Amino acid sequence: MNRGKELLIKINLSLCVHCGACAYLCSTGTLIISDAEPVVDQPDQCSNCGACEEICPTGAISLPFVITWQPTTLIE
Ligand code: SF4
Ligand code: SF4
Repeated sequence: MNRGKELLIKINLSLCVHCGACAYLCSTGTLIISDAEPVVDQPDQCSNCGACEEICPTGAISLPFVITWQPTTLIE
């Protein structure tokens, strides 16, 4: 079970230079530019692809932790 979608991308606007690259690359419509600032518009649509974090020239974007686990078999 992947709980990553329950957490939000973080955008540090104090580092943002408003280049728009993150929203331009976001293929899911999660990130948009509104009033010249990047906004997480549709968090449920995020695929955690990492493109926005990778393209951001200032390191303003941090993707959420993705927590995964699987059942283990207990041996008595
Ligand atoms: S991780 Fe991918 S899908 Fe999610 S906001 Fe960034 S570019 Fe869009
Ligand atoms: S890529 Fe980074 S600097 Fe450019 S708009 Fe997005 S958050 Fe701001």
